[in-house]
Amino acid sequence: MRKLTVLSSLLFLFTLATGAQTDAPLAFTLKPLANNVYAAIKAPNSKAGSNAGFVIGDDGVAVIDTFQDADAAKQLLAEIQKLTKLPIKFVVNTHYHLDHVTGNGVFAQAGAVIIAHKNVPGWIHTENLKFFGPTPKPEQKAWVDGIVSPNLVYDSSIELLLGSKRVLVRYFLGHTGGDSVVSIPDANVYFCGDLFWNKTLPNLIDASTEKWIASDNKMAAEGPRATFVPGHGEVGTAADVLAHAGYITDLRNALVQPVKDGLKDDALVNAVLPVLKQKYGDWNFFDHFAKPNILDTAKELRGEKKIPQPAAK
Ligand SMILES: [Zn+2]
Repeated sequence: MRKLTVLSSLLFLFTLATGAQTDAPLAFTLKPLANNVYAAIKAPNSKAGSNAGFVIGDDGVAVIDTFQDADAAKQLLAEIQKLTKLPIKFVVNTHYHLDHVTGNGVFAQAGAVIIAHKNVPGWIHTENLKFFGPTPKPEQKAWVDGIVSPNLVYDSSIELLLGSKRVLVRYFLGHTGGDSVVSIPDANVYFCGDLFWNKTLPNLIDASTEKWIASDNKMAAEGPRATFVPGHGEVGTAADVLAHAGYITDLRNALVQPVKDGLKDDALVNAVLPVLKQKYGDWNFFDHFAKPNILDTAKELRGEKKIPQPAAK
């Protein structure tokens, strides 16, 4: 321990003496996956807000999601530039939620085209306000207004070509109604956005849970041996994706009878929470999301849930 302290002090002095930058710690951990595909997994207590990732091809780079914080996005850009001098050609936003899109401007400035499902631009500056409650503060409104919106949209799928490297972007249902899954066939990697939360309770505020479960089943069946990068949590496997779908399934099942019995609010939460806690009490965000998950999904089962609607043409 003492040795370690001395070593750290020496390193610190060396850093000062050489004038090297004492940068803030990285807001994420960079995980090389396969064939020049990297996951950027949010560091605990960092401002990154969510995971991201990138793919280095023959003639450029595609980035998947840009965090909840521009400084974290700048760090990601710097880490990419340490690995390659190729330009950042594309950013894919897996969905509109602000923890995945706030750093878009950093990459737009670096010359990237920002791609998302066609529903995303209509929601990015409107639906994101709800995360600040009924009356967002001026600085929160300015934050949401300032997010750089996608400038290329697609309907059901789009393929990005980085030379010989294929990056497949496909529309999947469930988390928001404007979700993209990004897969890289030659690396067998899926960036799932928030359609997959690894051992972490999800945010179901915009969810269509039945469609979401179907999307997870489809991804897991398609890539039984693939690597799955979640929107939140560590990199996982098809089994982890199915476990996540299992949580949503268990939540729906636990709600059927209490909803039939007309339970609402605290009475409903008190009836369902212990059932979930038994199996999922050790998952991340349990204390944060279990209660809203119960209330959101009960609304959905009663047919009363409001979810984002595509902008009128
Ligand atoms: Zn989300």
